[in-house]
Amino acid sequence: MKALQYKEIGQAPVVVDLPVPEPGPGQVLLKVTAAGVCHSDEYIMSLPEDQFPGGLPLTLGHEGAGVVHQLGEGVEHLSVGDAVMVYGPWGCGRCHNCAQGKENYCTNAAAEGIRPPGLGAPGAIAEYMLVDDPRHLVPMGDLDPVANVSLSDAGLTPYHAVKQSLPKLHAGSYAVAIGAGGLGHVGIQLLRELSGATVIALDVTEEKLDFAREVGAHHAVLSDEHAVEAVMELTGGLGANAVFDFVGAPPTAKTAAAVAAIEADVTIVGIGGGYSEVGYGTIAYDAAVRSPYWGSRGELVEVLEMARRGQLSVEVETFSLDDAPKAYERLHEGSLRGRAVIVPNGD
Ligand code: NAD
Ligand code: ZN
Ligand code: ZN
Repeated sequence: MKALQYKEIGQAPVVVDLPVPEPGPGQVLLKVTAAGVCHSDEYIMSLPEDQFPGGLPLTLGHEGAGVVHQLGEGVEHLSVGDAVMVYGPWGCGRCHNCAQGKENYCTNAAAEGIRPPGLGAPGAIAEYMLVDDPRHLVPMGDLDPVANVSLSDAGLTPYHAVKQSLPKLHAGSYAVAIGAGGLGHVGIQLLRELSGATVIALDVTEEKLDFAREVGAHHAVLSDEHAVEAVMELTGGLGANAVFDFVGAPPTAKTAAAVAAIEADVTIVGIGGGYSEVGYGTIAYDAAVRSPYWGSRGELVEVLEMARRGQLSVEVETFSLDDAPKAYERLHEGSLRGRAVIVPNGD
């Protein structure tokens, strides 16, 4: 089968030919229908070799959807041909967090060598993908896999972030979303759909600001040295009640803290090396800063339900598996509108 692998430190990922994996006991083999390209892939490809506990090469892709192709011994309640989405942050399934469906916060995963597909285990940008446990599959029903695969991360991650701040996003409140890319453009829709907030989006080009408005931002502001002033003006000098930094770079994390209102939530979702200082006089009174990771299994079910009800949609640009390296080039350039999705087995 074809797969997209990151093979060598510092080199671009390449399409390779691999044997189709065999599902062992309890495992499920999917024929992949769609796989999303996330900015976190670029982050992991910037890491030194000792940061790859599973070693290289690594098949990329941590947003995956497929149809069940083969069941390992003992797998029940699934049938060949079922359409499923992969819940990516695999955990042990037994610890207190996993028991609540919060496998993204599994306390045993690192010690037990359990790694998410595409980030340690072989991922979804391949014709076939092995899933370690049926627990990590959510039924998709008739949801289109190409249009919806990115809900497994670009939907789930902002959903988890926004949901926790909903008590602060009452009618008349303000929310700021920094970065209207893969995660951000879904984050804006979630804020519109779930809260009473006026939504202010920040990005670096006029095209991205137009895109942010198209997906629901009430205001869109260039993310430059005037951004803080612009947000303060739009919020009547008070700042935003919740700020979501979907870039997480040093300048955006700084902006995020600077536009936080008294008692605001500042949520740094992006992993671009930015951080926020918290201490008397550095941020508004009683502001809280969080840096969440992905989301729970239950939250993925909720996000898919929103998609089914037409409450959100992902803007998608599709690529064949042979063209997958191009998707990464486009991601790097920042020229994608929404999410790049690889369709490994054709339409
Ligand atoms: P993306 O490339 O699709 O989108 C990034 C967006 O940010 C683009 O629209 C870009 O123009 C914009 N941008 C870049 N610099 C900016 C700046 N200075 N100010 C404002 N906007 C700026 O990326 P993505 O896939 O949406 O991922 C976003 C970030 O979230 C990445 O750092 C990724 O690694 C991280 N991430 C974190 C989690 C988590 O669980 N915490 C999960 C998924 C992704
Ligand atoms: Zn991701
Ligand atoms: Zn666990």
